[in-house]
Amino acid sequence: MNKILIIEDEENLANFISLELQHEGYNTKIHNNGRTGLEEALNNNWDAILLDLMLPELNGIEVTRRIRQVKNTPIIMMTARDDIMDRVSGLDHGADDYIVKPFAIEELLARLRALLRRIDIESDKNANKQTTLNYRDIIVEKENRLVRRKNEIIDLTKREYELLLTLMENVNTVLEREKLLEKVWNYEDHAETNVVDVYIRYLRNKIDIPGEESYIQTVRGLGYVMRA
Ligand code: CA
Repeated sequence: MNKILIIEDEENLANFISLELQHEGYNTKIHNNGRTGLEEALNNNWDAILLDLMLPELNGIEVTRRIRQVKNTPIIMMTARDDIMDRVSGLDHGADDYIVKPFAIEELLARLRALLRRIDIESDKNANKQTTLNYRDIIVEKENRLVRRKNEIIDLTKREYELLLTLMENVNTVLEREKLLEKVWNYEDHAETNVVDVYIRYLRNKIDIPGEESYIQTVRGLGYVMRA
């Protein structure tokens, strides 16, 4: 469930936004002044912050500036004044979006969803950028498509490599043969699931250490998993 911090000094508006967000399944918390709102933003992790521009003690631009010194929490600035300078200035200081009061709650909800989706996509991208994977003493360097144990390179075929990568990217998740066929062989047709067993055997022959437990566990009737 997404946690949204609302920093807004008009209490009726803050309560209204909060109730609407809760109705949509968000967790919310309200602060009515810039200073305590900033403390809340810094001390806890929020998925997004709805931030009023004109606030007692610290204004929205100052709050944004101070948050940005340490955190990337997405911020939507809410401004009562349809003043282009304020908006530009808010975005300059690190707000991700802005909305002009008075606004329809649906518009705020739509912008919030869009922002959270964008953040999700970016964090997925960052996760995929992780170029080195480790499992026990096996290291996969994705950039070089290289698999090694310490300094010893393990020579894998393309298919074996894809299979190992898929297992290592899903540590602790049991992958069914059908799933592995889809991911590694791009099969839509699940007729030939025994090819997976064959390749698991090839892979084990190359990565396992004789006399020690296999890196890849068989889950009978289900598929395969690498357990952390
Ligand atoms: Ca205000």
